[in-house]
Amino acid sequence: MKIAEDKAVSVNYYLTAHKDGGPEELVEQTSVEHPFVFLFGYGQLLPDFEANLAGKQKGDKFDFRIEAAKGYGLVEKDYVVKVNKEAFIVDGKFDDARVKQGEDIAMHDQDGNQLIGKVLEIAEAHVTMDFNHPLAGHDLHFVGEVLEVRDATAEELDHGHVHGPHGHHH
Ligand SMILES: [Zn+2]
Repeated sequence: MKIAEDKAVSVNYYLTAHKDGGPEELVEQTSVEHPFVFLFGYGQLLPDFEANLAGKQKGDKFDFRIEAAKGYGLVEKDYVVKVNKEAFIVDGKFDDARVKQGEDIAMHDQDGNQLIGKVLEIAEAHVTMDFNHPLAGHDLHFVGEVLEVRDATAEELDHGHVHGPHGHHH
């Protein structure tokens, strides 16, 4: 059975990423015991990830790269912002226990969406935060193997995710 729309797919892979010709760094590694499972064709994954797996079947190996622009995007200078220190005041004082250089901090925009920003610098009146995705600007490299391809059940298609030992539990 080949990977196509509405199939439940299990893959085992090793994902590395590199930026501007730098060394490849390990991002994520699954295993046969803990594979990555997903419903193919549901738009939940990077389009190029699915495109590279389409048509493969159990036992097929894969080795492909996704350039940054088609992965998590390029680094946007506009996403590096200076946030007034007042935004981090808790109980009348700057929250220096939580807001430290290099830390990832969850914040909310005007619409209430959660954004994760990395603290780049803490200055006198502001904190410079980087809201780019951690993998922005990185070329991705997936190497792995297809473990299983099966028809998704009606319930899985209805829910939009895979059930079973490695999928969703309700
Ligand atoms: Zn479900």
